[in-house]
Amino acid sequence: MGKVYVVEEACMGCGLCEVYCLVQHSSSRDILKAYKRERPRPISRVRREVAHPLSFAIQCRHCTEAPCVDACLTGAMYLDEDTGAVLHDPSRCVGCWTCIMVCPVGALNMDLENRVVAKCDLCSLSGEPACVANCPNGALEYREEP
Ligand code: SF4
Repeated sequence: MGKVYVVEEACMGCGLCEVYCLVQHSSSRDILKAYKRERPRPISRVRREVAHPLSFAIQCRHCTEAPCVDACLTGAMYLDEDTGAVLHDPSRCVGCWTCIMVCPVGALNMDLENRVVAKCDLCSLSGEPACVANCPNGALEYREEP
């Protein structure tokens, strides 16, 4: 399984990773409908930190020993044995936010409308994630090792 790595020096903080992540996780996969019409509102699983002169994207690092998996009381957060990805089952999530509190990189987001966590699913492992594919500056890389 590949992971998404950040190239801080190449990030210009444009936010397109957030935009295309949100669209990828919408029902319509249409940028206008996703932003203007869909309810509940789709959630981006990438967040951008802008602290000049550096900016960078934060999304799940799919830790090998993931604190969120250990901390999750319901089993909603789990390690997928086949791929090694840390995935989330919203149907089991009770919105206690424990995983958010223990995540060492602050990569998990609240979906307040549905009261569940929203996290990177590596676009369900269907190749290069949308954030990587749509970064105009090569500031996100999808690869096996650092
Ligand atoms: S918010 Fe959901 S995924 Fe996170 S620890 Fe609680 S039940 Fe598990």
